[in-house]
Amino acid sequence: MYEYQQPDARGHFGPYGGSFISETLTHAINELRQAYARYQHDPEFLREFRYELAHFVGRPSPVYHAARMSQEMGGAQIFFKREDLNHTGAHKINNVIGQAMLAKRMGKPRIIAETGAGQHGVATATICARYGLECIVYMGAEDVKRQSPNVYRMKLLGATVVPVESGSKTLKDALNEAMRDWVTNVENTFYIIGTVAGPHPYPMMVRDFQSVIGQECLTQMPTLMKDLRLPGQQPDAVLACVGGGSNAMGIFHPYIPYENTRLIGVEAAGEGLDSGKHSASLERGTPGVLHGNRTYILQDENGQITETHSISAGLDYPGVGPEHAWLKDIGRAEYVGVTDTEALEAFHHMCRTEGIIPALETSHAIAYGMQLAKTMRPDQAILINLSGRGDKDIGTVADLSNADFYCRPSCRGQSVKGGVGTPAEQPIHLIQS
Ligand SMILES: *Cc1c(COP(=O)(O)O)cnc(C)c1O
Repeated sequence: MYEYQQPDARGHFGPYGGSFISETLTHAINELRQAYARYQHDPEFLREFRYELAHFVGRPSPVYHAARMSQEMGGAQIFFKREDLNHTGAHKINNVIGQAMLAKRMGKPRIIAETGAGQHGVATATICARYGLECIVYMGAEDVKRQSPNVYRMKLLGATVVPVESGSKTLKDALNEAMRDWVTNVENTFYIIGTVAGPHPYPMMVRDFQSVIGQECLTQMPTLMKDLRLPGQQPDAVLACVGGGSNAMGIFHPYIPYENTRLIGVEAAGEGLDSGKHSASLERGTPGVLHGNRTYILQDENGQITETHSISAGLDYPGVGPEHAWLKDIGRAEYVGVTDTEALEAFHHMCRTEGIIPALETSHAIAYGMQLAKTMRPDQAILINLSGRGDKDIGTVADLSNADFYCRPSCRGQSVKGGVGTPAEQPIHLIQS
């Protein structure tokens, strides 16, 4: 077993992580550290957390064997951890519940959050409704326009959505605004961060809350693998997409001691790793400080954050959680990139082969998993974290797919052999409009 104890007392994962914050936030951060240290191992806190995960979220989420996809690839057996079946449709709710429970105990009735695509905003608004907490969500004005269904969801749940008009009117501007709010209202306000980023203790705390994903897999996989008469107990590789890195840390962390299990994080290579239009912080970034911690970031020679791009809003972030930076440096995890086009192909493949519409974020991990499976033996296993469902993405997919894809003769009731629905015979070629 591999020895691993991270972070240190001040939140360092090797040279990464830590806490880079303004003087005005020192008090709030110290308060949070003390609260988390107090409740982290508190039996009553953990009992309530488990109760909420079981009865409100619907955990444990199942793992299942993707028989058709595995057979088509002709290599390793592919398994999916179904975080898409959670309440609100993704892994984000696990973390949000933990932080909201802390807020209650700290006597903070007002919750703030920032969101890009709106997924974290919806999860936060959901738990605030359940706990009777005030909820303010900052969102770039551009994103408010692009993600109107999620904005409406948040409003239905009773949250106030504040459109941020400064800068590029996207996630990073919303983040700045949330920080400003926190400084002004520290006394009664708790800032719920949606991924393993931010100053210490956030990366550790969010990882701990999300680790329920990997812990469940550790007990679920041996049975599933035995049923298939596979020789191993645990998968040969565990895969997850990486935006900020919380669903990946959640499934990776319990597997770190299992040296025979490869951990593979899949970043958004956008239009290509060398196109300059991607969000692959670990593969193309350099160490620097962003949002309160040291990590790999996408920056130019002057330390200016560069524009990022991905087909999936949830992966479109110029940094990454500091623990991933450390896992990369020590070689315990590997990081690869998948392009927009490859992710879209995997999205369609998943829909038609497995009957699951995955999130576009998740589709990146699926795309890499499908390629990797082909290079492995049928008695080996790959476990992919299915971080979320794709209902939120069908508009994007429809816009990006060529019209012909939706209007083949078979769609109009004519019978065409090998038409829509038989991907093996008719590979899907998408043209971006
Ligand atoms: C937000 C989101 C992600 C990316 O966030 P991580 O912190 O990297 O997990 C991935 N998948 C889904 C479905 C998401 O909603």
